[in-house]
Amino acid sequence: MKQKQSRSQGSRYYPKRYDFDEKSRNAILDEGLVCHVGFVLDGQPFMIPTGYCRLDNTLYLHGSVGSHFFMQLAKGVPVCVSVTHVDGLVLARSVFHHSMNYRSVVVFGRSRLVESKEERWLAAEKFTEHVIPGRWNEARKPTESDMKKTMFIAVPIEEASVKFRDGGVVDEPEDMELPVWAGVLPLKLQALEPEADETGRRDVEIPEYVRGYAR
Ligand SMILES: Cc1cc2nc3c(=O)[nH]c(=O)nc-3n(C[C@H](O)[C@H](O)[C@H](O)COP(=O)(O)OP(=O)(O)OC[C@H]3O[C@@H](n4cnc5c(N)ncnc54)[C@H](O)[C@@H]3O)c2cc1C
Repeated sequence: MKQKQSRSQGSRYYPKRYDFDEKSRNAILDEGLVCHVGFVLDGQPFMIPTGYCRLDNTLYLHGSVGSHFFMQLAKGVPVCVSVTHVDGLVLARSVFHHSMNYRSVVVFGRSRLVESKEERWLAAEKFTEHVIPGRWNEARKPTESDMKKTMFIAVPIEEASVKFRDGGVVDEPEDMELPVWAGVLPLKLQALEPEADETGRRDVEIPEYVRGYAR
């Protein structure tokens, strides 16, 4: 992975928490559902949350052709995309040492409008399967009209950094005997009981890929 002092390196206050390994980067990206896309328009920074998927070294975003955000990205602009998983709350004995366990990725690249029919279809399928594997084969595929209303943006990953925190509480020695509960409260994204839509047919079973959904 290409690394540049100016973007993915910076000061790196906790160097041990950084990782530039492509496998770690991809694992975090592939687990995520939402990214935040940052770009600058006329000197004004914007940060927009949206869905995404990864295919090899490229992130794909999709949105309405009428979206102001997507119209800007279609011009081909420098972007910064981040994805974060919060794995736990680290509750120290002192407020100062409270923290979070997390895994996050920051990607730098330049947006590109996806124009070829083939790549647009690939992005549509990959996007759907990224969100919920198994859905592409069951749901109705997009029509020409659906596709006309949809813009696909590619962000080739030029540089990326991974940062994480794991492990337990770090407290000052003099605080260890305080009568304060300390520890980690693990957090995770969890699917709950599916809620069927009752406006159409009611005789369709909940598919296994919905019942067993986990990221
Ligand atoms: C859930 C969560 C909570 C956090 N809470 C705090 C907080 O309360 N206070 C705080 O100071 N920091 C917090 N951080 C860390 C924060 O994201 C930055 O990493 C930190 O503030 C800046 O670190 P730095 O000086 O080492 O990096 P900088 O020198 O500012 O950044 C240099 C480069 O490092 C990379 N980078 C920086 N941060 C990240 C990251 N998180 N993931 C991937 N790449 C990164 C980017 O490529 C960036 O361009 C939190 C992170 C997460 C994910």
